[in-house]
Amino acid sequence: MRQLMYLEPGRCEWSTVEAPTLTEPGQALVRPLTVATCDLDVAVLRSKVPLFTGPFAFGHESICEVVEVGDQVRTMAPGDRVVLPFQISCGACSACTQGRTGNCQTVSGISMYGIGKFGGGWGGVLTELVLVPYADAMLVALPAGIDPLAVPSAVDNLPDAWRTVAPALTARPAADVLISAGGAGSVGLYATGIAAALGAGSVTYVDNHAERREVAARLGATVLDSASASDLGQFPITVDASARPEGLALALRATEPDGVCTSVGIYYQPTEVPLFEMYLKGITFHTGRVHARAAIPGVLDLVATGAFNPATVTSAVVSWEDAPTALADPPTKLVIARPELIDDRSAAVALPARQP
Ligand SMILES: [Zn+2]
Ligand SMILES: [Zn+2]
Repeated sequence: MRQLMYLEPGRCEWSTVEAPTLTEPGQALVRPLTVATCDLDVAVLRSKVPLFTGPFAFGHESICEVVEVGDQVRTMAPGDRVVLPFQISCGACSACTQGRTGNCQTVSGISMYGIGKFGGGWGGVLTELVLVPYADAMLVALPAGIDPLAVPSAVDNLPDAWRTVAPALTARPAADVLISAGGAGSVGLYATGIAAALGAGSVTYVDNHAERREVAARLGATVLDSASASDLGQFPITVDASARPEGLALALRATEPDGVCTSVGIYYQPTEVPLFEMYLKGITFHTGRVHARAAIPGVLDLVATGAFNPATVTSAVVSWEDAPTALADPPTKLVIARPELIDDRSAAVALPARQP
């Protein structure tokens, strides 16, 4: 079968690999229908991530159709549309049962699709068939009425955004939210839309990227560039999606006493944080990978209400065959779809649906 391989920054190409088959009764085989670039993919394609060197099977955000299930799979059947979490999780170990599915103890280390050996060699989703090892635990049914073109990031970047604001807004309803945006381009925007939809008092979005500021404004945020953000005031909930030390410092310094700051930015080098200020204010700082499987149902429930349309963040939709060309210079959020899904929609799909 065909699999898109990442070779080097800006260069991917189709390759022929052996198709997976079921080897255990709890497994499933799924066919990717729509795929999105994760913010990490964009960084890799732009040559910013030394850890991930090609060639490797590419792609880890996908809505799929179930093709075949093992004898013990109870929750899914062939033909079902499903969200395929990017992280491998068993659903049965103590970490999984506590909702810490990103650190499943049954699989080793960083087990995920689409980043090569560093992720355990589980293959990528820009292909014909993907093996899902713990199908009942991992797969989440895509609710009827949610467009698979709108939500391939429900696998990873959407739950990543969800965890930065949803639990904190439950603890402090109608709190004001600050998003320090940048490197994790789509996660900052998704966090903006989710916070607004969940009733944040206000959402302030700081980014030096003009197009993303426009999207954030459509999602309901007050937008600023970093030069205008010197005196923002203090916020009970802050998010660092900048992946830049100065963006992290901005978020931490703008976190009010007893506030919570969540960083989704990946810092490969030791990075200074203002611990003395943080100590005096008593803030909670959280960094780490998302536990995607546990957060996906909350994301889907919110999207199903219509209060937040993730397609607002989509930069472009392209057909499956055009993936290598589109990935040579990826925008903030690229969606790659089987042609039949694009044909199902009007030609307007190339321009993502806008929120009112
Ligand atoms: Zn990712
Ligand atoms: Zn587990």
